[in-house]
Amino acid sequence: MSKHVIALDVDDVLMENVSLAAELVGVDPGVIDAWDLTKVVGLTDKQRSDMYALWRTEAFVKCQQPYAGAEDFVNRLIEAGYEVIVASSVPPEVMSARGLAIRGFFPNIPERNIMLGGSKRLLNVDVLVDDNPGNLGGCAKHGILFAQDSNRGCSAPYPRTNSYEKIFELIREYTT
Ligand SMILES: [Mg+2]
Repeated sequence: MSKHVIALDVDDVLMENVSLAAELVGVDPGVIDAWDLTKVVGLTDKQRSDMYALWRTEAFVKCQQPYAGAEDFVNRLIEAGYEVIVASSVPPEVMSARGLAIRGFFPNIPERNIMLGGSKRLLNVDVLVDDNPGNLGGCAKHGILFAQDSNRGCSAPYPRTNSYEKIFELIREYTT
């Protein structure tokens, strides 16, 4: 039997992203209450454009660190027999830095399973874990919304949690 395929977003699922960018441009991360920054009323135009600009720099990607427990979570999935892929929508400017960061922090994910820059809604996988509700609801059989301040008002019909333990349990539930 072929393995079940689990796709994991990187930014704000495995590695800190929005809150780090907010801090670097002098914004209280708690202000970011929507995934789409154009909908965040507490941001000035300058702060918003500074955050967008940061996301196109290798220096920022190289600053990002994994969340505590992220590598253990990935390894636990692999040990349980899942095919784990990472699905990371980054612009071309930072693809190399992102790929190298994934390889460095998550060495058990094979290079062939690092998927960068594509539309995640096209991924025909068993489970997609993402903090952007707009990425869920495509080809993936099941979606799990990784809880962040930026999606706290989301009413999308997916389980919402930031607990790797709970996500692992949900994946087991969906695939057995
Ligand atoms: Mg994300």
